[in-house]
Amino acid sequence: MIEELKNISGKVPLEQFDITSFAKEKIRDMFRQGKVPTADAMVDEIILRAVKEGATDIHFEPAEQELRVRMGFEGIMKRMVSLPKDISENLANVLKTKGSLNAFEKKKPQEGRFSITIGALQFDLRISTVPVLHGERVALRILQKNARVANVEELGFSKENLNRVRSLLRRPTGLFLVTGPSGSGKSTTVYASVNDIQSSEKNIITVENPVEYKLDFASQVPTGIDKSFTFVDALRAILRQNPNIIMLGEIRDAETGIVAAEAALTGNLVLSTMLSSDAVGTIFRLLNLGIPPYWLATTLIGVVYQQLVRKICESCKEEYQLTEAERHGLFVHMLSGQTKFYRGKGCEKCGGSGYLGRSAIHEVLSINDEMRDLMYQQASILKLKEAARAGGFESIFQDGMRKIASGITTVAEFSRALG
Ligand SMILES: [Zn+2]
Repeated sequence: MIEELKNISGKVPLEQFDITSFAKEKIRDMFRQGKVPTADAMVDEIILRAVKEGATDIHFEPAEQELRVRMGFEGIMKRMVSLPKDISENLANVLKTKGSLNAFEKKKPQEGRFSITIGALQFDLRISTVPVLHGERVALRILQKNARVANVEELGFSKENLNRVRSLLRRPTGLFLVTGPSGSGKSTTVYASVNDIQSSEKNIITVENPVEYKLDFASQVPTGIDKSFTFVDALRAILRQNPNIIMLGEIRDAETGIVAAEAALTGNLVLSTMLSSDAVGTIFRLLNLGIPPYWLATTLIGVVYQQLVRKICESCKEEYQLTEAERHGLFVHMLSGQTKFYRGKGCEKCGGSGYLGRSAIHEVLSINDEMRDLMYQQASILKLKEAARAGGFESIFQDGMRKIASGITTVAEFSRALG
């Protein structure tokens, strides 16, 4: 829980409307008689509870019988409440109005954002809607504003990977990407990366939608507020202001990918994030976006791929024997020499889960000359992987195994994250 919010109490007793604990008919009667809070109050209560628990997401999922509300903690879902199905449209409308979406459009996905203040803290919420069988599924991503930018040492990189990342960041030009699935902490890593190389002698400009952290060493260009001022417009404009380092929020389509490569090609160090399922595969995603192989081979310097794992709670950590299933699980053979394994027994500090806090596991791909050559020739992924390994590249499995062996995380958690 965020400390500053501990003393703010909710006003709406959501539990009373939970159809998994109370008879649906009884709750329906309360709604009919108007003995219920407004949809606005319910939404505020749900957001407050999620923020207090430190959730990163809230999902409103209409099902056949209920509106299920769940919180996400970087990929781990936890049910908050199951509300009567009848109110799901009202809640969706409130959320869509908050996010300046078209409340009448229910058949197409929409995206938006809004800000809220709770106590002394400000949050940015990104909203997205998707029409589903029983209504509209609404997801909120919660970002705390003005949070502190991390240092690269704090991100859980192994010593070797940290050295690789730091040497990539010290190149004067090129394209450096942080990739991973959604909610894998990519932007934390990319901000920490810029933070690591910032200096008053450098001209650092960012293009973001939205701005997640305020940086006093950079000029930050927010886009997406006015739809006529796009990411690409912003990037082209800043290229005329002689930057040294450019940070782009995300490469999400052909257009942003091509301008990012173009910016790197004209002598800038460009850092960005992208969705991907492994470091070497990112190269193929970029080629598929339509970035010419020659450009990519010339500009791409490195790719970090990452996933978040929960850390074993230090207060209740214990040694244990792997279970039969774990011993036969995927990748555990990589730990064949390992005799000691750890897990959290569960204590008050970790709420009985055995885990406290999160760390990342990584792949750091540093592009070598052989790989450049292969990219230019549009070689197969196998050839690229071979060249990467020859250059010292280690897969996320190797990194994960190392973190299991040193008691940072468990076999079970690693399997969940990569499963
Ligand atoms: Zn514990």
